[in-house]
Amino acid sequence: MTSDDAYKQKLAPEQYRILREGGTEAPFSGNYVATKETGMYTCAACGQELFSSDTKFDSGTGWPSFTDPVNREHVTLRSDASHGMVRVEVRCKNCDSHLGHVFDDGPQAAGGKRFCINSACLQFKPKN
Ligand code: FE
Repeated sequence: MTSDDAYKQKLAPEQYRILREGGTEAPFSGNYVATKETGMYTCAACGQELFSSDTKFDSGTGWPSFTDPVNREHVTLRSDASHGMVRVEVRCKNCDSHLGHVFDDGPQAAGGKRFCINSACLQFKPKN
């Protein structure tokens, strides 16, 4: 278990605010909104593999969007009633960091889910 101080040292302030305090980055502000390279998006806090570029799509929302995690066992989904909305929060199962939310308005052909994830929570590892 990584201590709070260790996360503060490892992460940039904006990353800490989002990952460890459940924040949200401004739309279209993140590094990976328009990224189309092939590779794996890992957790910026712990390195767990989270989302493959194979499932990334352009949702037009301003946040990186995916139809599925690389492995359902790598994320935790939980009900989030903050900000006057009932949403489903997505967390990294390995380190319990906040990642974003999942919605039911994704591409129907790919299962209908839209995992709306903050760029600041991700570290992209290009394939070679
Ligand atoms: Fe993690």
